[in-house]
Amino acid sequence: MDQQVTNLDRELRARALRVIPGAMWGHQNALRLPEGYPQYFTRTEGCRTWDSNGREYIDFICGWGPMILGYNDPDVEAAAVRQRSNGDCMNGPSERLVELAELVVETVPHADWAMFSKNGTDATTACITIARAGTGRRKVLLARGAYHGAIPWCTPSVAGVTEEDRAHLAYFEYNDAASLEALVEANKGDIAAIVVSAFRHDLGKDHELPTPEFARRARELADEANAALIVDDVRAGFRLDMGGSWEVVGVRPDLAAWSKAIANGHALAAVTGNDRFRDAATRIYTTGSFWTASVSMAAAIATIKKLRDTDGIGKMRTAGQRLRDGLEAQALRHGLKIRQTGPVQMPVILFDDDADRRLGNAFCLEALARGVYLHPTHTMFLSAAHTNADIDAALQATDEAFAAVARL
Ligand SMILES: *Cc1c(COP(=O)(O)O)cnc(C)c1O
Repeated sequence: MDQQVTNLDRELRARALRVIPGAMWGHQNALRLPEGYPQYFTRTEGCRTWDSNGREYIDFICGWGPMILGYNDPDVEAAAVRQRSNGDCMNGPSERLVELAELVVETVPHADWAMFSKNGTDATTACITIARAGTGRRKVLLARGAYHGAIPWCTPSVAGVTEEDRAHLAYFEYNDAASLEALVEANKGDIAAIVVSAFRHDLGKDHELPTPEFARRARELADEANAALIVDDVRAGFRLDMGGSWEVVGVRPDLAAWSKAIANGHALAAVTGNDRFRDAATRIYTTGSFWTASVSMAAAIATIKKLRDTDGIGKMRTAGQRLRDGLEAQALRHGLKIRQTGPVQMPVILFDDDADRRLGNAFCLEALARGVYLHPTHTMFLSAAHTNADIDAALQATDEAFAAVARL
């Protein structure tokens, strides 16, 4: 039995290789994970996921961020089913569009308006287009190494990308006000936008919340330059603060990009903005075949209301803190030096002196073998469905995983 199911993942990969370039694209290519990670999945429920080999995991990747209330959340799915029975893709939107825009504007303090699309990349790209339309300028200042999506202006790969695709982009260091000041000075008079991630969550690096000083200085510099301050909240949106992630440092952007968790796994993205950029947002031409589909909007309405009414963020924080405290004590007990950074509900765990990822990969593989799905270098995600019992079960597995790493 085990042998047979083990072969299913292998068989699917072999078949995929013949008909899909590289068998899988982008970050989900299992080749980017230590060997032993499954590529294919069959089922999800709550905070659990089952791979095609039938193995069950407590999931700390949450579909790479979209799952926030739990997989198959009954309230979100009921709203989606109700809407689907009436219509999803139609000649135009349903009233869900207006209801959702009203809910977002009511929930997010900087937002005077909202627009919707499908992917985070749609939203980050629209923010930049709106900023350029609104300011009539070209330059976009970005933090070096930050991820904003997967089209030529921002993809981490350079294959198929021309220099011209990235003309008018310039880079500063996140949380380094002096580097941003210097870049603003160097591009004076031509700055359309300063773009910042909700927090520094670069792959394979310690995560870092924005310092209040940096956030305030970014706001001032954008104001002085008459440019847009854009927060890319695609990854962190609704996990740190219902009003947008920079509410935690008391700074409001002009524009923000949202996606991942907004509809608990249904495909949706949003741009929010203030009145300063309303006219520019009206003038740009942006659309997509599926952007007015109603099921994901019904799911988003249910997701945002449930997160708000059940203190979803509080639950994630409690679960994340329990996990972090448990891991900290275990690592200490096993004599291993780890760094847990980022907000507790969006952690990354890195080992000291582990440039080749030998320890980190081994730890994650040992946890995986014991039914806990972690990631060695990427931001992980807690959800409102992770209970104390789930965290304690995960910690039992990680204790054994640390013990195995300590024996290496
Ligand atoms: C995932 C992500 C994006 C891109 O979103 P897609 O839905 O994959 O297009 C943009 N910015 C950040 C911070 C992300 O984490």
